[in-house]
Amino acid sequence: MPRDLHTITTQPVAFVGAGPGDPDLLTVKALRALQAADVVIHDRLVSADILTLVGPQTRLRDAGKEGFGPSITQGDINQMIVGEALTGARVVRLKSGDPTVFGRLDEELDAVIEAGLDYTIVPGLTSASAAVAALGQSLTKRGRNTAVRLITGHDMQGYADHDWRALAREGEVAAIYMAKKAARFIQGRLLMHGATPSTPVTIVEKASRPDQRIVAATLATLPAILAEADMTGPALLMYGLAPRETAQMALPQVQEMI
Ligand code: SAH
Repeated sequence: MPRDLHTITTQPVAFVGAGPGDPDLLTVKALRALQAADVVIHDRLVSADILTLVGPQTRLRDAGKEGFGPSITQGDINQMIVGEALTGARVVRLKSGDPTVFGRLDEELDAVIEAGLDYTIVPGLTSASAAVAALGQSLTKRGRNTAVRLITGHDMQGYADHDWRALAREGEVAAIYMAKKAARFIQGRLLMHGATPSTPVTIVEKASRPDQRIVAATLATLPAILAEADMTGPALLMYGLAPRETAQMALPQVQEMI
């Protein structure tokens, strides 16, 4: 057995990144873990296409909701993971994108460690990587930005605060997660701190999925364009980046090549 596979299949709990949605963007390691799992506890955002790749013996449990009940708490999810692992089941805790990015990984890790269980983390492709690829752009670019921020529109207190002054500088780039509701707040803070109203902001909904949408806006037009787009799926605001004109061609071309 290859060493990596051995590691995955012998740890009781594997925290696995499912990537942004396209099953072809799963890592080989993630796929192996899904196929070896007795139970996969997945988030609501993990795409249905990926859930079809589990092994024939694998049970699926939705950590976003159980039955038609209300969404379950973090404590319930921790208990679900630990409870399954203590029965001897090989558990995959499947999170969208990369489990280490806005994934509440540490809370679940703490519960697993406290229960005396071993674990492994299988990184995944975060949705910002898929979104920027869809734009035909780079997250960093020589002469433009030497740093990129992954930030959230929301935290436990509500709209999240950031170093707006730093972000408002010319050429800055940020991938803003969970930002749809916070868009007007973000716009206000950035303009207040001196950002140029014409700074591009591109909304990428369902990055890497067949129904991916790319909507170009600027800081000035963002709230209006977002309202008009009426998005229901997961979306990222790519601050400081406009779609490259030729980028729309990228996905079909790649598909034809394969
Ligand atoms: N761990 C995930 C992020 C989870 S937080 C990752 O690494 O991607 C949930 C947020 O991620 C969503 O509100 C949305 O902003 C973003 N997101 C997740 N999947 C996405 C996708 N396919 N397209 C666009 N945004 C996505």
